Amino acid sequence: MPRGPRSALLDTLTWLDYAFQPAGQPAPAETAYGQQRHSARVVPARQNRPPKSCESDGVIADDTQPVAVYTADCLPVLFADPLTRQVAAVHAGLQGTLAGVLNSATEGLLTRGARADGLFVAIGPAIGPCCYELGHDRVQQMAARADLPPLRWSAEQPHNPLAVRPQAQAHHQGVWFDLAHLARSLLLQCGIPDRQIEVLNVCTYCMAEAGSSYRYNTHFASGYQSRFSWIRRRA
Ligand SMILES: [Zn+2]
Repeated sequence: MPRGPRSALLDTLTWLDYAFQPAGQPAPAETAYGQQRHSARVVPARQNRPPKSCESDGVIADDTQPVAVYTADCLPVLFADPLTRQVAAVHAGLQGTLAGVLNSATEGLLTRGARADGLFVAIGPAIGPCCYELGHDRVQQMAARADLPPLRWSAEQPHNPLAVRPQAQAHHQGVWFDLAHLARSLLLQCGIPDRQIEVLNVCTYCMAEAGSSYRYNTHFASGYQSRFSWIRRRA
């Protein structure tokens, strides 16, 4: 079974296993994941075994069972802490990112003994700035928030030379927003070093396997399936 793209950063950590699985593949057995609500709620894995036992958008494990999130265009974010060997999986769309879900996950790990400067984070396949159009008003609302880092967006749609299908067409004269850059900036604000954060830059709309993108489906009604991204400490 194909395992999806790899993170060069997480691949350096020999004590864990992870995957950004292709859309439509089931999660591994015994995986904990929440009923996702685009919230900032991150819970210990035991609260989501069996899966969807409670509402959460992030799950932290300190044992060897996998934790996961399911996404279509939102960011799947995997955390690993070599010091305590905790791992976390976080679902971070725009709404959850703005609500602070990445901060919650980082705080949750720190509460259990991790150090921010020791964390490793990989951001998997998600809609890229090549295809993610947002209305001007939404970007202006975000830009007005003093607690947010500088945003990255462009009025002109970025060309993606790696696209395997046409990029999204503009639908509402908006701007092309870089959600992964916002996530990375927020992780930096949390104290995680730049060299320990990797963005895979696989756009679900124009690069990943067909059926990966919620937004593509809204444009073409072609169907989509969730992608499970999971991580676990090795036994
Ligand atoms: Zn794209």
